[in-house]
Amino acid sequence: MAYKIVSIVFHGKHFYATGEYLSDGKVLIYKNSQFAKTIHDSLISGGRTERLYLENSGLLKNGILSQDYTFSSSSSAASAIAGHNRNGLLEFKTIEGLTLGEYLNGLTKEDKDKEEVPSEADKDDEIIETYYGEITDVPPEEKTRDGVKFYPRNEKAKKIAMMQSGDVCALPTCKHPLFKRRSGRTYLEAHHLIPISVCKEFSSNIDIPENIVCLCPSCHREIHHGEEAERMISELYDERKEALEKKNIKLNGGLKQLLNYYGIKK
Ligand SMILES: [Zn+2]
Ligand SMILES: [Zn+2]
Repeated sequence: MAYKIVSIVFHGKHFYATGEYLSDGKVLIYKNSQFAKTIHDSLISGGRTERLYLENSGLLKNGILSQDYTFSSSSSAASAIAGHNRNGLLEFKTIEGLTLGEYLNGLTKEDKDKEEVPSEADKDDEIIETYYGEITDVPPEEKTRDGVKFYPRNEKAKKIAMMQSGDVCALPTCKHPLFKRRSGRTYLEAHHLIPISVCKEFSSNIDIPENIVCLCPSCHREIHHGEEAERMISELYDERKEALEKKNIKLNGGLKQLLNYYGIKK
């Protein structure tokens, strides 16, 4: 069963649609989304087929979607909404303002090589067990979806890291207020101390709980963008160094190497 990966929005002068990108690559568009009222001749393939289906079935009247509808791909959805052919990976944006493609690639606007964006989906334990399977020693495999390369994250590793977090930010110096999810657990974001983007430099898998630190949203932004990043990375590295080495993940250049991964040149 498909579940939500990330909330997405697509808006332009004549349309405004919200929805979610699903784990099977399809896109759910919410009821009451506003589609462009007219379609252009350039609208072809999936976008046209699905748009015409919505119009003919009466689900789309006057450009307003009367119930939630799942499109077969992000591009079909974006094209049907805009009434032109559109690339869904470029047009849909996440809440943080990334394109869907950037999000799936594990990138952000500010720091395209280094950043991971946390999934905001509260995922069902059972699905995680069956869908992602076990954590292995094998490094992540680069995947391509709709022409965009990305490394799939092991959700089970993240889940274990979250359970081990004790519902507090991993930085002992953190003084930021925390809040609870609707599930009752503290909201934290999973951050790979050694970024997934450099996983090919290691013969062991770095997408493991030992390399995942759970940070409050403020500390997470700060470690990627703040002037205090060096201190934060150094504190976390001290704490995780031994556990990482036990998993055959050794930084021969030590802290300096790790800081370089964050773009901090020493
Ligand atoms: Zn991060
Ligand atoms: Zn914090």
